[in-house]
Amino acid sequence: MKLGSSVVTDNGEGIHNGVIDDYAKQIQILSKAGHEIIIVSSGAIAEGIRRLGWVKRPNHINQLQAAAAAGQVGLIRAYESAFEKLGRLTAQILLTHEDFSDRKRYINSKSTMLSLLKNSVILVINENDTVATEEIKVGDNDTLAALVANQLAADFLIILTDKSGVYDADPDLVPNARLIEEVFVSDERLLKVSSGNTSKLGVGGMVTKIRAAKIAASGGTNTIITNGFEKDILIRFFEGKKIGTLIKADLPTLSARKQWLLSQLKIKGSYVLDEGAEKAINEHGKSLLPIGVTEVNGDFDRGDAVLCISIKRKEMAIGLTNYSSADAKKIIGQTSSGIESMIGYIEEPELIHRDNLTLTDSNFSFEKM
Ligand code: GLU
Repeated sequence: MKLGSSVVTDNGEGIHNGVIDDYAKQIQILSKAGHEIIIVSSGAIAEGIRRLGWVKRPNHINQLQAAAAAGQVGLIRAYESAFEKLGRLTAQILLTHEDFSDRKRYINSKSTMLSLLKNSVILVINENDTVATEEIKVGDNDTLAALVANQLAADFLIILTDKSGVYDADPDLVPNARLIEEVFVSDERLLKVSSGNTSKLGVGGMVTKIRAAKIAASGGTNTIITNGFEKDILIRFFEGKKIGTLIKADLPTLSARKQWLLSQLKIKGSYVLDEGAEKAINEHGKSLLPIGVTEVNGDFDRGDAVLCISIKRKEMAIGLTNYSSADAKKIIGQTSSGIESMIGYIEEPELIHRDNLTLTDSNFSFEKM
């Protein structure tokens, strides 16, 4: 579950201890019934700003990072004291994007978290805002929670926010806008919200929540977006009551390695594919060869994540490239046997091996991330 800053802190008034206590009690009841609940909590920056006596959110990154450091201790203290009253231990996990993009760190943090869960410790996760610069941060906790949900193969991602869910129109503008109770992740209505076509619905972070639901769905995880202020919301959910919007995963579940590939949010560049390569990848699950690429965009190194785009500029796949952009520019259009004569050496005959390539659904736009 992901608790947003608006739920766990009160603008300027600090942490809502009552809210955190209340969630701790619900989690305790549910874990006695056999459910494992992992918390991703925002609120460090909001609490830090209050502690430092600042009147408004600063713009400078170093001030935000300072606020995160000052606030995170308060946030974790609130969780620790809430769970301590119930006899439960708490562990703080602070992650950055690199903890997902570096496979060794990804596997390592996963096994740490699994071993804490095995010992009945409550995980309280946040982004490591204090060290995460623009290039290495995930950026928002909806996405972070989705990545963790994939990493730990969660059944559900529950996003608790100050909105009741996703509406079919902007509820502030359209009086009879209806809450969407249940929807498949591929449903066009979500696409409208996630592409920002429906005015203002994206405000308040609904766009990132829907993108998070798509990431979660790639690992077979269903997402619920609901109001974190409603009483006993977790218990009611586990009782099977309808709460907020349920976004169901309907995409084929990817292998653990391909899910990990999808968590490579920092795309460094792209390859534009000709129609033959598009077909080979889309329909036959083949590797990407230099001969099928017409254009190389961006500046990347061997091993970086790049997008594969069709001639019609549709995002199709993401993969880890065997060649840097400089070398790729020299070998595109060549048969694999021509690689060596162009650059003097041959790493692999493919630009992207099929094991390092995963198709993205057409609704999923990495560039917006
Ligand atoms: N990690 C940030 C914090 O704890 C919040 C980011 C978010 O809400 O998405 O303040």
